[in-house]
Amino acid sequence: MRCPHCSSLDDKVIESRSLARGDCIRRRRACISCNYRFTSYERVEEKPLLVIKKDGRREPFDRAKLSKGMLRAVEKRPIPSTKIDNILTEIEDKAAIQGKGSQEIASTVIGEMVLTELHKLDKVAYIRFASVYKDFNNLDEFINEVKKVGDLNENN
Ligand SMILES: [Zn+2]
Repeated sequence: MRCPHCSSLDDKVIESRSLARGDCIRRRRACISCNYRFTSYERVEEKPLLVIKKDGRREPFDRAKLSKGMLRAVEKRPIPSTKIDNILTEIEDKAAIQGKGSQEIASTVIGEMVLTELHKLDKVAYIRFASVYKDFNNLDEFINEVKKVGDLNENN
């Protein structure tokens, strides 16, 4: 880094410290030419993951919004909130990995991730979430989905 005192580009790091639980790294540097000491900060470049909605609009990935939808689905079900929190973290990680590069992920992909997790967790919660997410057009579609879950139960 350029020395603020003599503009030399030769410096050495004399101390590195992780700040804010690793969100930021502070480095003390010493200019090799003039021995001037200065500080630099290093941060992750924040580029939010965008969710592509069905109508093509993009909005930032919103964990709180996803959490709300899932908590609604598991309401009065015997599921600890820590479990939902773990699933949310897992989905957030998976979404970040899948969206790596483009920093975009389709809302349908996230929806399927949630459905897969809820299906493993609780069939009632699954049906509740699916009924909102899949936006069933009529009662038959809904009943078919319930039947599908029923079949899967028998296979387990
Ligand atoms: Zn210098």
